[in-house]
Amino acid sequence: MVTLSHMIQWDEAQNGKELAQSNPRPASGYETMIPLVDLRAQYQEIKHEVEAAIHRVLESSRFVLGPEVEAFEQGFATFCRTRHAVAVNSGTSALHLALLAAGVGPGSEVITVPFTFVATVATILYAGAKPVLVDIDPRTLTIDPGKIEAAVTSRTVAILPVHLYGHPADMDPILQIAKKHGLVVIEDCAQAHGAEYHGRRVGSMGAVGCFSFYPSKNLGAYGEGGAVTTDDEDFAHKVRLLRNWGAPQRYTHLLKGYNYRMDAIQGAILRVKLAHLEKWTESRRHHARSYDRLLAHSGVELPIAQSWARHVYHVYGIRSETRDAIRKSLLARDIHCEVHYPVPVHLQPAFADLGYQKGDFPTAESVAETQLSLPIYPELTKSQIEGVAAVIGAAAAEESCRHE
Ligand SMILES: *Cc1c(COP(=O)(O)O)cnc(C)c1O
Repeated sequence: MVTLSHMIQWDEAQNGKELAQSNPRPASGYETMIPLVDLRAQYQEIKHEVEAAIHRVLESSRFVLGPEVEAFEQGFATFCRTRHAVAVNSGTSALHLALLAAGVGPGSEVITVPFTFVATVATILYAGAKPVLVDIDPRTLTIDPGKIEAAVTSRTVAILPVHLYGHPADMDPILQIAKKHGLVVIEDCAQAHGAEYHGRRVGSMGAVGCFSFYPSKNLGAYGEGGAVTTDDEDFAHKVRLLRNWGAPQRYTHLLKGYNYRMDAIQGAILRVKLAHLEKWTESRRHHARSYDRLLAHSGVELPIAQSWARHVYHVYGIRSETRDAIRKSLLARDIHCEVHYPVPVHLQPAFADLGYQKGDFPTAESVAETQLSLPIYPELTKSQIEGVAAVIGAAAAEESCRHE
């Protein structure tokens, strides 16, 4: 029998593995282990700034919200080109509060995608509403705007597009449909800090944007964190209340709220990291162009950045019918890769009660079977990228011979 303590032990073992993965041996050609994300390399670059920031918080002893978090909120609002940013304790909390502030509750429906991290769908359920799923577009891997209107009913309150992998959803048709039917657009920007659609930043196009600062996200805290962005003063006010027990002042509770406040240490660290984010994003984009070039004739399908998109490459995902063989070759060379996501939300056991079946969302299901995320992080070196591409090229060639 699997007991809770077994599960915790398993979890600790997994965490140990993650630690080992973010702790690579020195780079010396592609024989060396390449992690999927290298948080340690980034820490080495900003160590002194981070330590000073943490020290500042310790000396002030303002540990929750306070001036560090407020300064981060201002900086992040400027970065997203919105009037307000409200910091919370995770991306999940950001989504939950955005949904509540948008008036989503029991009896409402929210339209979103099955091909996302589970939090997108779970938070709709937290709000007491029903997730209504529509398939993704095979090029952008984000919500297919052509499929939204058929899913709108008299109970629909919001559309929740996900800017998956750092590529923005096709927002104009989504905003048009929302306007026509009086719906709120809530953007899930957890993977897309700084991404742009026709020059507009994600998180500034819908009524509200939701960000995660989980450590491995493009802007990551050293712990949990999230934010809600909006131009709407009332919306921002409501989210501020909800994150702190619905209390504008101590012991006056205007709303039934939550403890979703951001820690001051995370706020201070995020301020430090925000100042580096544009440079890190440009590195990711540069690495993506290198992969594009090196893998152009490998036979694997490459991610497409639409002409209107500034893709920020949280994930660089290739697609191939021989994905599993390529993955095996990479892992054999100690190059870490991952499938995002192997099982779409509608086929997850926990969400069976939504009533969907295999075959309902063919694009999501086909991407789940063929996708593979390659190492991409700002500190990746040219020789590491060449190494990854060489292994993929060889594996893809070998597999195509085998199938002839
Ligand atoms: C990470 C993520 C979330 C949840 O963010 P947390 O900070 O982990 O709670 C939500 N949606 C998407 C698409 C994500 O990738």
